[in-house]
Amino acid sequence: MASASHVIRGSRVGAGPLGETERGDIAPRTRVAYWCVNGHETHRVFALHADFDPPARWDCPRCGLPAGLERDAPPAPDEHVPFKTHLAYVKERRSDEEGAALLDEALAVLRRRRGGAA
Ligand SMILES: [Zn+2]
Repeated sequence: MASASHVIRGSRVGAGPLGETERGDIAPRTRVAYWCVNGHETHRVFALHADFDPPARWDCPRCGLPAGLERDAPPAPDEHVPFKTHLAYVKERRSDEEGAALLDEALAVLRRRRGGAA
C-alpha cells in the first residue's frame, strides 16, 4: 500500500475535479508537527498545494526555541537567538537559588518604585 498516498496526492492536488476549491472552504490542508529540544510538540496547519513544502523550522510557542520536523533530532537552541526574558538570562548565569534571590530583589525595587510614584 506504499503507493496509495502518492497516487492520491498526485491526482487530487491542483486538479480540482469537483470544482469545490474555488470556495476555499475545503482546500486540502495538512498538519505538520514540530519538536523543540525541550520536547514540546507543536502542530501547525498549512494549506496544501502542489509545491507545498513545510518550513523546516518553527519557533516553539512555549519556550521560543527553534523546533524542527524530527522529534529525535530537534534543532540546537543556539543556532539562532530566540526571544529571551531577563529572567532566563539570570537563570543561565546563576543557580536557581541565586536567581530567585535576584528576582525577589528586583520585585522589591519595583514595588518601592510603584509605591513611590503613586
Ligand atoms: Zn519548546
